[in-house]
Amino acid sequence: MKATVVGVGSELIEGRTLDTNTTEIARDLVDQGSEVGVTFRVVDRKAELVAELRHALDRHDLVVTTGGLGPTPDDLTREAIAEAVGAPLVFDPDVYRQIAAFFARLGKPMPDINKKQAMKPAGALWLENPRGTAPGFLLRWRGKAVVALPGPPAEWRPMWRSARETLGLTGRGRYTKVFKTFGVGESDLYLALGELLGAGQGYEVTTYAKPWGVEVVVRGSEAVARAVRRRIKKAIWGEDEDTLPGLVVRRLRAEGRTLAVMESVTGGLLASLLTDVPGVSKVFLGGMVSYTGEAKVRFGVSPAVLDAHGQVSPETAAAMAAAAREKLGADYGLAVTGVAGPEGLEGHPVGTVFVGLAGPEGHQTRGYRFPDQGRESVRQRAAYAALAFFWSRA
Ligand code: AMP
Ligand code: MG
Repeated sequence: MKATVVGVGSELIEGRTLDTNTTEIARDLVDQGSEVGVTFRVVDRKAELVAELRHALDRHDLVVTTGGLGPTPDDLTREAIAEAVGAPLVFDPDVYRQIAAFFARLGKPMPDINKKQAMKPAGALWLENPRGTAPGFLLRWRGKAVVALPGPPAEWRPMWRSARETLGLTGRGRYTKVFKTFGVGESDLYLALGELLGAGQGYEVTTYAKPWGVEVVVRGSEAVARAVRRRIKKAIWGEDEDTLPGLVVRRLRAEGRTLAVMESVTGGLLASLLTDVPGVSKVFLGGMVSYTGEAKVRFGVSPAVLDAHGQVSPETAAAMAAAAREKLGADYGLAVTGVAGPEGLEGHPVGTVFVGLAGPEGHQTRGYRFPDQGRESVRQRAAYAALAFFWSRA
């Protein structure tokens, strides 16, 4: 199966909304063993959309669109698909009643403009949308298929799963293994992986820099994946869908231990990453953002430590971790302090970060020097460094 995935919406072209739908669907198709030839975005203009859909249907077996199924006049995907394949739009009174019921549940009258969401190209199958008003549809046409999904990810994901099933796309794609590392650069990995890196007979090994470290992706060979794992074992913290906060939470739950944090440079990002994980409330007690020296003191850091070592130092990171642990009565305190920029601080260049960890076994600290790639980058790396340090603790 060869596919085109299309994001519909002027906001996607202008960059007001980042188009993540097309890549997410493309990746899913590839995981199912389909080939995705093209992904693109189109403005909310019917003529443009019709021309692009025709071209895509000319070349590929499957065209998936997201967006443009709303009730307003700028949402034109259903009209454009109907025109591209030469099918009339038909009104479905049952779906109309379902949309009316959706509004009734919200206690609102149904606006007249929503009526067009009960229209689909003749012959198409509805894809039910339990989370919104816009149902999608699946249209088979000359041995090909068009799947029309709404824009919001929470709405289209379950609909896409049902469309995929209807299309029989349940295969397994090419073997893919992802290794996630921390604390080694792409050049270190290059040295460690040597001749394995790049493409060989039926396989590829590629590296991608991420805020949480470097990802090594092996495609096409399980034996090569095993060899890669052996060579970079020490740097690997996770595989495939693993996340650092997820592993930290899993380990704490397994040990029956709790965590509290104190953050300076990351301003709450560390707590935010932890609270992304479902079930985290069993192990994460809370935290403090101590962005000034005064706040650090009020939260329990000794002024003598700050005077002697400054805001950005291993000693202060350790004292912050101990204070977080103490104040919240947690088994572990984890703290991060550093310099996000644009200016250096206390003689430290931008990108200097210290992580402190206090626990039943005493305290540990580690220092990092990240490249100055802007505040966001330094802050993200600092938060992930704290998680990686905690995860790899003895
Ligand atoms: P629409 O169905 O075109 O009215 O889109 C509704 C909302 O879905 C938009 O306001 C975006 O927030 C989101 N959305 C639409 N297309 C995309 C896309 N390609 N990637 C990510 N989000 C999108
Ligand atoms: Mg739109």
